[in-house]
Amino acid sequence: MTYAYDDTNIFAMILRGEIPNSTVVETDHSLAFRDIHPQAPVHILLIPKGKYVTIDDFAANAGPEEAADFWATFASVIESEGLREKGFRVISNAGEHGLQEVPHFHLHILGGHAMGPILA
Ligand code: C5P
Repeated sequence: MTYAYDDTNIFAMILRGEIPNSTVVETDHSLAFRDIHPQAPVHILLIPKGKYVTIDDFAANAGPEEAADFWATFASVIESEGLREKGFRVISNAGEHGLQEVPHFHLHILGGHAMGPILA
C-alpha cells in the first residue's frame, strides 16, 4: 500500500529548518523534540526524517537502518529524560479515526507524572 505524503505538513517544515523546534536529540534518521503544547511534564515527539505518514506506513516501509536508528533514538530519549524508573506512555495517532493532526508519523512520549486511564 502506498501512503500519500504531504510535504507541506508542519513536521516536514521543522525537518527542513523552516520553523524552529526544541530539539532533544537528533540523529541521521530521527529527530526528537518537545511538543509545543505539552500534555505532561515530559512530552516529546519522536519522528523519523523519512517521509512516513503513519505508524503503519513506517512499520511497512522504513528501511532497516532508519528503523534501527528510530528505536535506538527512542531508547536514548527514555534514558536521557529519566523515564525508565517510573515509566511513561507512548501514543501514535493515525489518520482520521486516530485524530492525527500532523500527517508525518510521530510518537508522543509522555511522562513525568502518573497518567490517567486511556479513553476510547
Ligand atoms: O498526534 P497529533 O498529530 O494529533 O499531534 C500533533 C502534535 O504536534 C500536537 O501535540 C502538537 O502540540 C504538536 N506540534 C508541535 N509543534 C508544532 C506543531 C504541532 O509540537 N509546531
